[in-house]
Amino acid sequence: MAVAGVEERLPALCRDCFAFAEAPASRRACALCGSLRLVRHAELGTLSIAHIDCDAFFASVEKRDRPELAARPVIVGGSRRGVVAAACYVARLSGVRSAMPMFRALALCPDAVVLAPNFSKYTAAARAIRARMLALTPRMQPLSIDEAVLDLADAEARHGAPAAVLLARFAQEVESGLGLTVSVGLAPNRLLAKLAAGRDKPRGFALIGAAEARAVLAPLPVRVLPGVGPVQERHLAARGITRLADLQALSPAQARALGREGPALVRRAEGEDFRQVVPDGETRSVSVETTLAVDLAEPAALERVLGKLSLKLAERLQAKTLAAGGVVLKLRTGDFATRTRHLRLAVPTGQAPLLLAAARTLLAREADGLTEFRLIGLGAEPLADAALADRGDLAGPVDAGISRGRAGR
Ligand SMILES: [Mg+2]
Repeated sequence: MAVAGVEERLPALCRDCFAFAEAPASRRACALCGSLRLVRHAELGTLSIAHIDCDAFFASVEKRDRPELAARPVIVGGSRRGVVAAACYVARLSGVRSAMPMFRALALCPDAVVLAPNFSKYTAAARAIRARMLALTPRMQPLSIDEAVLDLADAEARHGAPAAVLLARFAQEVESGLGLTVSVGLAPNRLLAKLAAGRDKPRGFALIGAAEARAVLAPLPVRVLPGVGPVQERHLAARGITRLADLQALSPAQARALGREGPALVRRAEGEDFRQVVPDGETRSVSVETTLAVDLAEPAALERVLGKLSLKLAERLQAKTLAAGGVVLKLRTGDFATRTRHLRLAVPTGQAPLLLAAARTLLAREADGLTEFRLIGLGAEPLADAALADRGDLAGPVDAGISRGRAGR
């Protein structure tokens, strides 16, 4: 607390020379090197959960490899899906965003340079970044190809510096060593760290401390909370709850009236998050599944669900730098019998359209238009290294490799 005549002092970190010391709260530049990239925060020396997100990852890798494009708007996107996979910050100035249909992106930014994605390059870059994260701590959990969360609680003992200093050094190493930039969020837990990472992009370094968590969360929509999907969002909206402030304002009785999850939801809205950072163990299969809102029998309807699942599965595989050596289709009928069908692939793939093609081959043998299904799952098994995947024209399903799983529950 400030005392009259004595200026408040805050821990400060220089992101260029890594000087870390208490400094007057009004200081804007590093006392040692003069850099303006000074981070000041009361909890700077104690926060230890970090969310790291690469800036415009695919587009940044392309720009790094083609310096002549540095000042140009660059969009990475496959013609196959017809959407933007990544847009650089120059393209974003024109309003281009990820997942936007390509025709719309080009209408907004007609002079954009459009590049086809080169996943083996992105995978190699992601690996190099992860290797540097693992040098900080084994407690690293990848969340997608370009995002991870780190628990640096023991980092001070291990490396003799607070987590914030290690992260600033890490960000600079990634820049100088790999030619890519990251944004760092540092907080007491995963929820707040993720929010912090998004606050100062690109090349960001933001902190959310325990003391301001409640206030930072208050204006945000309920969907930022882990576990709040579209269904829960509608359930809450019907009760007039759209912002986290609405949840924060509930009495314990009102929270219980929201349902079994109510009280936990309110605590999360206050900034509580007990999710641990779980390092990737040995993964033997990767799968996604969905329980249908209504039982479906029509093949075309089932294929649409598979389309979404194949996109999700491709994302999961990319996040783990893995590919599918085979595809497993799981179907549960209306009477709860489970069928699994397996198809080996000639060449491993991590691409959604090829995963979908294999899944459709399997589905065609099961969907007779009469049998109703209540659950559909899609898995990758065996797994393969992403570096071995999607080699030229060889990619595609092998029809001869189909095997049938036992029917069970
Ligand atoms: Mg990113």
